[in-house]
Amino acid sequence: MAEKVKSPAEVMKLLPQEDCGECGCDSCFEFALKLVERTTTVDKCPKLKKSALKKIKNMLAPPMAEISFGSGDKMVTTGGEEVMHREELAFFGKTIIAYDVWDTMSEERLVERVNDIASMSFVRFKVQYNVDAIAIRSVSGDPTKFKNTVKKVADTTDLPIILCSLDPKVLKAGAKVLKGKKPLLYAATKDNWEKVLEIAKEYETAVAIFSPLDLDMLGSIAATFAREGINDLILDPGTFCEPDSITETLSNISLLRRACVKAGVKEVSYPVMTVPAVASMSFKNKKMAAHYENYLANLFVTKGVNLMILHFPEIWEFMPVVYLREGIFKHPKLESAIDPDLYAFNDPDEMSPLMVTSNYTLTYGIVSGDLDRYRVKCWMLVIDTNALSVDTAVGSGDFCADNIVEHMEEFDVESKIKHRILIIPRVAAEILPELREALPDWKVVLGPKDSSEIATFLTEEWEKLLAEEGAA
Ligand code: SF4
Repeated sequence: MAEKVKSPAEVMKLLPQEDCGECGCDSCFEFALKLVERTTTVDKCPKLKKSALKKIKNMLAPPMAEISFGSGDKMVTTGGEEVMHREELAFFGKTIIAYDVWDTMSEERLVERVNDIASMSFVRFKVQYNVDAIAIRSVSGDPTKFKNTVKKVADTTDLPIILCSLDPKVLKAGAKVLKGKKPLLYAATKDNWEKVLEIAKEYETAVAIFSPLDLDMLGSIAATFAREGINDLILDPGTFCEPDSITETLSNISLLRRACVKAGVKEVSYPVMTVPAVASMSFKNKKMAAHYENYLANLFVTKGVNLMILHFPEIWEFMPVVYLREGIFKHPKLESAIDPDLYAFNDPDEMSPLMVTSNYTLTYGIVSGDLDRYRVKCWMLVIDTNALSVDTAVGSGDFCADNIVEHMEEFDVESKIKHRILIIPRVAAEILPELREALPDWKVVLGPKDSSEIATFLTEEWEKLLAEEGAA
């Protein structure tokens, strides 16, 4: 099957052609373009008839299926890829990061490790990142032991669970405990697939298919599961971490992606997973193993792998993997942009300083980092400058009086802030006269050139500015 061509013109034919703007686009064609780029969703057009909606959804369906597991608001979804390289469009099926526990741990140690995993998190650009799932490995091979471990984990956390064993009896014992919570069974193989299929049907689970180095077998088992109505599938071609075999692991990941998105081979049109945790079995030295696992995890993220099971729940390992993942899976079209908004820093009140900056990621990252670091209590209006930095946007005309005023109106600044003092970056000094003219009720002042000086500037100037305003 040839690669499915998605043309905005074809999508356009199915749209109402009213150019009413209700979808947030100026025209139906812009909406069609954004649909093809996957920067908007079809449900945003309220005027579409059901039949057209269905046709567009079908036309835009990605070649790679999606998989979901877990339940409630912790449910995770991945897959849905359409390209080999993210530069061609974007990667969408963000890597789900899971850490393992096992059924030979003492109850006390098990609960402690689950809590450590579930609470491992950090904040970046005001978004909190946590571990996505927990993998429970059967080491004992004993279904009762496994069942008890699964129960304890499920009582301790609501993270989605991956049940890991090649013994169907063990998998069934775990699936029974998680009835209604849709775990991922890891794994169906050429030797156990019939029994795993029965469990997946009975307990409505997702399934990982494991066929090391045999991609034909992977496709053949996946096709059988799909025929039987189990479509939440993920493929594991094996993770081999020895220096000689790592190339083969990477090449299998690429082969599967190519067969799916380029050749449209239905049997392997599923997300792909790896298990960097194998490093923990390959190195006696734990520190060495942790570092190697981290190396593998970063490598696999760059390949756009959709799920990984890790063994060392260390923040120094988790952070770089997540940082890399967020970069790799960010839509290139949106990559350099922060959503325009009125952002609150350190719990400001209606008399806290108001500043304005551009929506370039790097600018926002530096400014917000400085505001957080120095605990500056303030409001920051981020305006859409087409992701240009302030000085560049002044030159291009995107950081201008009209744009600032429009954003102040859009985010209702006047009702949220009582004073009428607006601080603009010193590098935007040339727009000061036009901004003062556009905002006659406001006192517009130049702030420092560098965001690292904001805290000092406000300490020295803010009270004086407020006093001047009061006296005026
Ligand atoms: S809401 Fe629908 S009809 Fe209106 S512009 Fe958008 S796509 Fe066209």
